[in-house]
Order: sequence, then C-alpha cells, then structure tokens
Amino acid sequence: MKLSHRIEMLTGGGSDGWDIFRKARAMVASGIDVTELTIGEHDRRTEPEILEAMHASAMGGHTGYAALPGTDSLRDTVAARVAERTGVPTTRHNVVVVPGGQAGLFAAHVAACDPGDDALFIDPYYATYPGTIRGAGAVPVPVAAHAERGFQPEARELEAVAAGASSLLINSPNNPTGVVYTRDTLENILRVVRANDLWLISDEVYDTQVWDGTHLSPRQLSGGAENTLVIGSLSKSHAMTGSRLGWIVGPEDAIEHIINLTTHTTYGVPGFVQDAGEFALTAGQTLEDRIAAPFRRRHKAAKAQLAGHGIRFVPSDASMYLMADIRPTGLSGDAFAARLLEERHIAVMPGESFGQAAAGHLRIALTVDDVRLHTALDRLADFYFSLTRTAA
Ligand code: PMP
Repeated sequence: MKLSHRIEMLTGGGSDGWDIFRKARAMVASGIDVTELTIGEHDRRTEPEILEAMHASAMGGHTGYAALPGTDSLRDTVAARVAERTGVPTTRHNVVVVPGGQAGLFAAHVAACDPGDDALFIDPYYATYPGTIRGAGAVPVPVAAHAERGFQPEARELEAVAAGASSLLINSPNNPTGVVYTRDTLENILRVVRANDLWLISDEVYDTQVWDGTHLSPRQLSGGAENTLVIGSLSKSHAMTGSRLGWIVGPEDAIEHIINLTTHTTYGVPGFVQDAGEFALTAGQTLEDRIAAPFRRRHKAAKAQLAGHGIRFVPSDASMYLMADIRPTGLSGDAFAARLLEERHIAVMPGESFGQAAAGHLRIALTVDDVRLHTALDRLADFYFSLTRTAA
C-alpha cells in the first residue's frame, strides 16, 4: 500500500546520523564495554521526590483525561517561572502544555507554516529538526552558522533566505555545539525575523544548563514577544526525559490555536505527569542545581582536559555536550567516530549528524560518571594523536 510522500521522506531519505548510536548499543548488547557519549540522556534518573509526587497524584485519581491545554495550576506555574526568568509579563493564556519539547517543535511549525512554506533553521542543528519541519508539511531550509564565527548565526546569511519564508527555528543554548547566542546575535536574528514577518521558534530546552553567564530568550528583547514561540521542557532541567513534559510560550491567539491542535493530536498530557512537573518546578533552585551539577562540573573538566592535550574544541559555556574539532586529523567526523568506536570502544556523535556546518567535529555527551569520562577523553586524545602523527 502506498504511503504518503510526507512520511516516506520524513528523514530526508539518507542516513539519519544515528548509525553510531545504534552500533554502540549493539556492541553493548553483545557484551563489549563501550563508553557511550552519544545521546543527551542524564546518567541519573528522575529524582525520587518528583516520582513520589507523580505517584501521589496518580493514587489521588489524576489518571483520567487531563485538561487539554495543561492544568490551570501547571500553566500558572510555567507562566510565573517564565516571567521571573525573563521579566516578560506572562500568564497561563500564553502557555500550552505539550508532551515534551519535541511535540512542541512540531506543533509550533504546524502553527507557523502552511504546507510547502520555507521553514528556516540553523545548521548545526538538533537531529530531529528537518524531519519535524517536513512532518509539519513545510520545507526545511538550513542556514549555516560557521565554526570560524563560534557557530553564532549571522544576519547576512539569514537575510539571503528570509524573504518569503514563514519561520526560523533557533536553539540557544545550542545542541550540538554548547554555544550560547550573544545578545548581539539574538538582536540581529530578531531584526531579520521582524523585517520578514517570520515566526521565531526558539528552542530553549537547555535554558538551565548555562554554566557561565545567564540565559537570554529572544522573547525578552524589544518586540520579541509578538513573534516568538518558545519551546520549553522538563527533560533536561529536571532529568525527566521519559515523562514527556514540555510547553510552548507565545502570543495568546497563537497559543489558543495550538491548544486546538492538541485536541486533534496528543489530547493532552497525563495529569499525574503534569502534577509531578508542577512539583518539580516549584521545588526550588536546590533541586535544579543538584540535577545540573554533574554537567557543570564535567563541562569544565572536559574543556581543561582537551585543552591540556592540545585538542581544539568549540568554545562554549553551556549544555551537557562539548564539541571537539578533529579536522587536523584529516578525517571526517563520521570516519573518526566510526573508527573510535571500532578501535577504542568509545561512542560519540559525528558532527555531520547535526548538519554540514559541524563537519569535522564530534559531539561528546558528558553523560557518564566523571572517572569514566576522564578515561574516555584520554583514550580519545590518544587515538586523535595516533592519527595526526600519521597525517603529519
Ligand atoms: N530540542 C533540543 C535541542 C534537544 O536536544 C531535545 C532533546 N534532546 C529536544 C528539543 C526534545 O526534548 P524533549 O522532547 O525531551 O523535551
């Protein structure tokens, strides 16, 4: 039976970049001791007190269909948090709760784009972006941010493709680079977005993983709130990846329409998950700091370790990832990562799986304990130098 072109072409037809991840999992299953530094999954599970709140809610009966836009109290909690962190007045009418940031990305593109519209996104990008855009019926148009510019997007590159497009998707702090966009970058982006009547879809799921400086949302820049749909999630901030809880924050009329969309897609998020999320968001800074602490520590240590070895990396101050620049070896990120897995049993993501702008780089997820990470980076460095010696 024939399937739709849209679904058959969702991943663009080629490799989806996850070969290394799958191969590493198969090696682990066959008993090989692989250090997996691939996906952005915390090495600690959801905190027990969050799970207790989830349990209490479920036992209390919150197991039926939940309020579709999100419970009033969770929407109020998200609105208050966003208002406090950004200074932008925000109410529950600016918030719709969705089952994870990924569902938010999809819904935001359905809201912003008609079928066949151009939807811009910055390369390097989180691996699902092009497929999400295609799934929403729009046409993904990558806009390169360059290694030489610290992966900060440039206005002139955006201006070249913005006319006639419907949306621009950005992600700061960035996956895969760990880079935080400067105020200048965000102001330039917003200027192009407003001049061309684009929706700015701002993926801020790493907003609590800024290790130096503070998070800045384009929604808090002058005029930004009118054009911006912010994607938020508890996956990274509260180690709740499996709970599937996120939100979109935006102008009231857009949110109203997205709520209408949820009626026809997800039909809401389980009430006990929403209650656990509300508990997590109101539990205070100490809990968030506890969850963030390992990545803050490892990010700093990994930078020092690579610098000590003389391996270049993308200067960054955020996220649970670090990007190494392996161009001096003469290998592509794909080839380096394949051989690193085969010969040294370390799995990292090739830069190419996040777009062509990150070619010749590796994304290292800092998601194993400190000692194991340290050993893996030493082995990676050893492999790197075995190649540069051959290349020289
Ligand atoms: N955006 C980015 C940049 C991500 O890295 C991820 C998950 N790795 C997501 C969105 C989706 O997160 P979730 O659906 O778990 O909230």
